Amino acid sequence: MIIDTHIHLDDKRYDEDLEEVLERAREGGVKRFVIPGADASTLDKAVKIAESHKDVFFAVGIHPYDMAQFDSVAFENYVGHEKCVAIGECGLDYFRLEGSEEEIFAEKEEQKRVFKAQIELAKKYKKPLIVHIRDASHDSKVLMLESNAGEVGGVLHCFNADEELLSLANEGFYFGVGGVLTFKNAKKLVNVLSKIPKEKLIIETDGPYLTPTPHRGERNEPLYTTFVAQKISELLEIPLKEVKELTTQNALKLFHIS
Ligand SMILES: [Zn+2]
Ligand SMILES: [Zn+2]
Repeated sequence: MIIDTHIHLDDKRYDEDLEEVLERAREGGVKRFVIPGADASTLDKAVKIAESHKDVFFAVGIHPYDMAQFDSVAFENYVGHEKCVAIGECGLDYFRLEGSEEEIFAEKEEQKRVFKAQIELAKKYKKPLIVHIRDASHDSKVLMLESNAGEVGGVLHCFNADEELLSLANEGFYFGVGGVLTFKNAKKLVNVLSKIPKEKLIIETDGPYLTPTPHRGERNEPLYTTFVAQKISELLEIPLKEVKELTTQNALKLFHIS
């Protein structure tokens, strides 16, 4: 089986056919789903989906793009829930930063504050972290080490293939690989894949985004993790069945689910 470790099922693009999406995935061997927290406005929806589906779990967190919401989210209301498996997605994302030098500096500092606060929550509640990093590898790594994020570990979701981050494997971090691996321009990730410790490799869609080949341009969905597994199998020259077993065991261990 495959576990989709990062799927935004609370996104409105799944509103109309959520049950069909899940059923297609199950039939294709995708048997567990983790909804990361991102935008507080859909958190209750994520909880409801997890409550009404045995195989769906959720995380509570604020994405760097939505960090203004951070202080208003009552994390305590969610972390104790039996289906809450992680804190995140949280992290640093410098991709969209714009403005004057001072504005950019201030924005980075605020992102760091909100990320650090979520690392502290993860440690307090002993939950792994779902970490989102874009154009901010070095700052993220420094902050994670300074904050002892290794106490709880977690996943670097949509791993950006930056080799500087690979040593976080020693801090209990896993590496989430998704549709990007199948893109023609994914040379960096293709090259770094074999350097990820096998016991730290997990699979994700990040749906509705980052749809793998041959479905690019369409909405992504959990069934398509099968294309990612296939690509990993080809690149690492490991039988597909083994890729599925390995990444499933890793994901179960990371999120403490069965
Ligand atoms: Zn993300
Ligand atoms: Zn995401």
